[in-house]
Amino acid sequence: MFGIASWLAIIVSLFFAREGLRILTIFPFLAFMAAALAQIFFVRCPRCNGNVGLLVAQTLAPGRFKTHVSNCPYCGVSFDHTA
Ligand SMILES: [Zn+2]
Repeated sequence: MFGIASWLAIIVSLFFAREGLRILTIFPFLAFMAAALAQIFFVRCPRCNGNVGLLVAQTLAPGRFKTHVSNCPYCGVSFDHTA
């Protein structure tokens, strides 16, 4: 009986150790995602201050979601998304 209990304790501790490790590895990823989302929502047109972050994000999107944006949809000013 004690053998089973200690075996269960080992399994549970291994489980929690693994979960803790997963949280530690996912945290920088979440921070990166938060930064990326902040960038998406706070990218502004330098001329009219329109929110062009989502359009810039779409130029980075894979496959058929990809669009090419070279002009501001609000004021038509030409820009490249490195700015
Ligand atoms: Zn603009």
